[in-house]
Amino acid sequence: MSDVFHDLVGQDEAVDTLRAAAGAAAVLRSVGDPTLEIGGGPGGGMTHAWIFTGPPGSGRSVAARAFAAALQCLPGTGCGTCPGCHTTLAGTHADVRLVMPEGLSIGVNEMRALVLRAASTPSGGRWQVVIIEDADRLTEAAGNALLKAVEEPPPRTVFLLCAPSTHPDDISVTIRSRCRVVPLRQPSADAVAEVLVRRDGVAPDVARWAAAATQGHVGRARRLAGDPQARERRAAVLAVPRRLTSVGAAFDAASALIEAAEAEAESSVAEIDATERSALETALGAGGTGRGAASAARGSAGQIKDLERRQKSRATRAQRDALDRALVDLAAFYRDALMVALGAPVAPVHADTAELADTGARSWQAEGTLRRLEAVLSCRTAIEANVKPRIAVEAMMLSLWKG
Ligand SMILES: [Zn+2]
Repeated sequence: MSDVFHDLVGQDEAVDTLRAAAGAAAVLRSVGDPTLEIGGGPGGGMTHAWIFTGPPGSGRSVAARAFAAALQCLPGTGCGTCPGCHTTLAGTHADVRLVMPEGLSIGVNEMRALVLRAASTPSGGRWQVVIIEDADRLTEAAGNALLKAVEEPPPRTVFLLCAPSTHPDDISVTIRSRCRVVPLRQPSADAVAEVLVRRDGVAPDVARWAAAATQGHVGRARRLAGDPQARERRAAVLAVPRRLTSVGAAFDAASALIEAAEAEAESSVAEIDATERSALETALGAGGTGRGAASAARGSAGQIKDLERRQKSRATRAQRDALDRALVDLAAFYRDALMVALGAPVAPVHADTAELADTGARSWQAEGTLRRLEAVLSCRTAIEANVKPRIAVEAMMLSLWKG
């Protein structure tokens, strides 16, 4: 069976909920009365606003897209093959809008425009679906704009939000109270390996290794299995504990980590930055002369500045995300060492550095290993709280060296 929920790995409960709701939505649609109830009720659980929660990599946005496809499905089951399913999954359905915040937060103007468009009648006669990835990155004003729409939803509009959790830091209590929550769990490494083999044609042993090394993060596992650069980056991060032999080495390691994150971020945004800029310049008629060209140029300068500001914000976000991935890998190494020090019968996350973790555990003991693990986690927290990444990483490296 290969319907739209097929790739939602290890999430049977959530899939049951979404199937039931999509079925109910199809019935409501066919009787022409989309009166939806919050949190269950006669509508079979279909409602206007949903929050998909779960740890990174659990498939929040995969779940939201699959559900959107099921809502737009012609037979109403999420068959995976009809034009409704197909265009939704391909990102080209006219009535499905996807918001992926590129900067550090989703702004109010973006949200207002979105809410306005979401209120229009669906062109296919089904639902207007708005998917908001990283809803935890909404600004307060944007959150308020969204709240208004969720409080009085247009009859055929469905909002699908994705967030790490329903903690008030991630999603406002008032929005949360209007939404049905679909909790996703971290899929098991076995489930992730299975999907890599089946869907992406990865060799079973590579799939198992990548699934374990990324702790059940489907997207990262796929990248690690298929992208040599991703493997090199991981190897460089895991070499850090071995390299910390002096104060100077600690500072060097901090610089290397920051620079690697910058390089990774730059390569991920460079192409789209260039495309956007040339598209804007073309739209503004760059190089035009004649009457009005001077005042047009003044207006263009503003638009280009605006684009540059957005691109800078996106680059900052990409850098932080890259650095965070490195810190997660590093934390897992110290976690492996801690398991050894405590004699816990648990498989290591990084099988290929297990020996190094063994050696570390013997010289640091459980207490020293725990302090190091905590140093990595505090570094993540500090960066999230807007401490300058270089300062946070240098402090971390010194703690990792001294113990
Ligand atoms: Zn379908």
